Amino acid sequence: MKLGKIIVATILIVVAILGGMGAYLLQPSGQLRDFDAWQAKPDTSAKSLNIRFFGVSTLLFDDGQEQILIDGFFSRPSLWQVLSSKVSSNAALLQNIIQEEQLHRTRAILVTHSHYDHALDLPELAALLPHTQIIGSNSTLNIARSHPGVKASQLRRAVSGQPLQSGQFKVTPLASAHTPPTPVNDDLGEEITAPLKLPAKFSDFKEGGSFDYLIEHDGQQILVKASTGFIPGQLKNVQADILFLGIAQLSRQSEDYQKSYLQQTLATVKPKIVIPIHWDDFFQPLSQPLQFLPRFADNVPESMRILIKAAEAQQIQVVLLSNTGPYSLLKSASSQVL
Ligand SMILES: [Zn+2]
Repeated sequence: MKLGKIIVATILIVVAILGGMGAYLLQPSGQLRDFDAWQAKPDTSAKSLNIRFFGVSTLLFDDGQEQILIDGFFSRPSLWQVLSSKVSSNAALLQNIIQEEQLHRTRAILVTHSHYDHALDLPELAALLPHTQIIGSNSTLNIARSHPGVKASQLRRAVSGQPLQSGQFKVTPLASAHTPPTPVNDDLGEEITAPLKLPAKFSDFKEGGSFDYLIEHDGQQILVKASTGFIPGQLKNVQADILFLGIAQLSRQSEDYQKSYLQQTLATVKPKIVIPIHWDDFFQPLSQPLQFLPRFADNVPESMRILIKAAEAQQIQVVLLSNTGPYSLLKSASSQVL
């Protein structure tokens, strides 16, 4: 009897400790308000190139006439959904976003790689936007072509260094590298070789190779780099006014890796402005303000500090975007731009 009580008490204590640890690890790794000084102010008045940020690396560029979208991830299923079941698009949410953001003006969706947090909504978007092209790796195109409403003519394979004209936007895919693998993300270079029917397990979205995208519009150059990975020397001839830079798990890499990454991106591309991306908790819906990735996934404040320190040493302005927007990217990208 006594032993039984001791066992029960021990189990309860262990459960309480594990529960407490779990709750701690699920909390955001820091508070966005601690970085208020770097937050951009939304600007709806601007007539030049506007941008909307939807978390991770889903970015909408809009010149008032036409749009291009980097990545297609709006549905953001919860952590529980991702771990316990298959993932798919939230069609009603997508229809709302298409209407609100006038996505029928989107000429192309350029996809950085095939993980679900970049590519989940591609099939549904491509079916709802029949005049929009999907551009990405073979794996990415296999996600999009799983929907019966998507036409073959909408799908186009990205070729590194080969520019594409999309209205006033000239976009060049550049072969890139993914963030170094983690135990749950250990599929780098693996491909999706047949149409991927949704719903699918998150682990079925194989990386399939990664791309950065250089966007040229009206004399402005913008580089979008979604992942915290690089091919040495790849950006040596690339200059951009604005660099969207993935910082997911930067703080988890060795100091040597952090230095090389920032050398190969920030110090090479020499932007006037760097905008960190892929720092938000993508298990939270877009109806809420973006918050930092949870502790189990990253230490975002530390990644931010590493980036800010390197950028400020090079007189590069760091600007943080939230999911409110839109933001205006003025032509000069001068110090008071955003
Ligand atoms: Zn990924």
